[in-house]
Amino acid sequence: MTGLEPAQMVAADGGAPVVGESARLLASQCPNCGRTEFPAREQCPACGEPSTTAPLPSEGRLCGFTAVLHPPPGTEVPVPYGIGVVEFDGRVRVMGLLTQQIDGLDVDQRVGTVTLQPAADVVTYGFQPL
Ligand SMILES: [Zn+2]
Repeated sequence: MTGLEPAQMVAADGGAPVVGESARLLASQCPNCGRTEFPAREQCPACGEPSTTAPLPSEGRLCGFTAVLHPPPGTEVPVPYGIGVVEFDGRVRVMGLLTQQIDGLDVDQRVGTVTLQPAADVVTYGFQPL
């Protein structure tokens, strides 16, 4: 797993992301057709218009999740760990690490986006049940 470039997320207050703190992912939105993309793109993949970049809400809805028991090649995250798909404002779904194992999680529950450092040289986002 590779870390995100710092430009792909900001702290909840818009500043630099801080490990362990709330974060917001930077998505692109098409002013023409309204399509939202994460990671952000300069151009809308649906209609080709230039997109604008804006942070998603810090909270979203957990749409689904699973446990990873066998690490993919090259991963630096110790197993087992949870992966979830989170929907933001009904506009875009993003897959990411969960901050806890999947026991006790429910589909449709609220999660917050946080900055994680799951391995020494990996900084990325994750989703924390609220
Ligand atoms: Zn578009």
